[in-house]
Amino acid sequence: MRLVFMGAPGSGKGTQSLVLSNHLKVPQISTGDMLREAVSTGSLGRGFSELMEAGGLVPDDAMVSLVERRTAALDARGGFLLDGFPRTMGQAVALDGILAARNQSLTSVIVLEVATELLVERACLRRTDKRTGQIYHLKYKPPPAGADLAHRSDDFEEVVRARLEVYSAVTAELVPYYDDLGLLAKVDGVGSVADVSSRVLALVDQMMARKRPS
Ligand code: AMP
Repeated sequence: MRLVFMGAPGSGKGTQSLVLSNHLKVPQISTGDMLREAVSTGSLGRGFSELMEAGGLVPDDAMVSLVERRTAALDARGGFLLDGFPRTMGQAVALDGILAARNQSLTSVIVLEVATELLVERACLRRTDKRTGQIYHLKYKPPPAGADLAHRSDDFEEVVRARLEVYSAVTAELVPYYDDLGLLAKVDGVGSVADVSSRVLALVDQMMARKRPS
């Protein structure tokens, strides 16, 4: 399965794509995680990390070559789940081209739907365990005592609002694009992590059942 997981900042995209990648046993390719890793090791240009901190987008050519290389790795041969890519029409068209050159195509694009009012609170109260990478929410999924938590620098309210604007102005146009291609599957992203996971897994299990020859 070659899947794209879409959702606005704070929609639960990272949490749910991790659950799904474990279920399908395909790698979760999170461009945000790859970029944050590159920032922490100093291998990402300073201009790019400033763009991220302000809630903007890293330019398409850098993102496309990152994803082209990562999806060609051995562990992605049997499929992958892209989390946070594509985010622009240019990236979506480039991804189609990369896959077509390998005689491949996307299986499906899942979009997590969450009302905008909920997104700001969700993102601002998100914390990540520095040791395990596990994502918590101070109100809905409190971390265990003693967890060593990080608050992403782009999860403060002003930056979250900027990221939401980028999502609705740029990324949201991918929803009708993938819908026209017959690839889009919408999932209600409101509810507990477990409730949303069971919706996502039920959808993907249905897709796999349809693909299996009878
Ligand atoms: P995320 O963890 O997916 O919310 O991504 C965090 C930040 O990384 C975004 O706000 C962007 O600044 C940058 N980023 C991640 N993926 C992309 C992408 N596909 N295109 C451009 N910028 C990206």
